[in-house]
Amino acid sequence: MLKNYTEVAVAEVFEEVLAQLRKQNPNICDCERCREDVMAVALNRLPPKYIVTDKGEILTKVSFSRVGGKAEIIASLIHGFELVGKHLRHQQGG
Ligand SMILES: [Zn+2]
Repeated sequence: MLKNYTEVAVAEVFEEVLAQLRKQNPNICDCERCREDVMAVALNRLPPKYIVTDKGEILTKVSFSRVGGKAEIIASLIHGFELVGKHLRHQQGG
């Protein structure tokens, strides 16, 4: 199965970064749409790293050294939250 390892790493630290940012700004939206927007921004800034996994294999321990370091991933996610926070695209109140 072809997988973008960068995506796995971004998903891995997503909650951590969100929790950190919420300490300063409790209003950060974490609806499905905003989460995906933030992930998209972060992933567009990071180089993809494709790997092939066996069918059904679950990547439990993320090796951040394979994707340029954890700090890089966190910085991209923070940028994503800032950008999405300024331009909310989700449907507010339907
Ligand atoms: Zn939202």
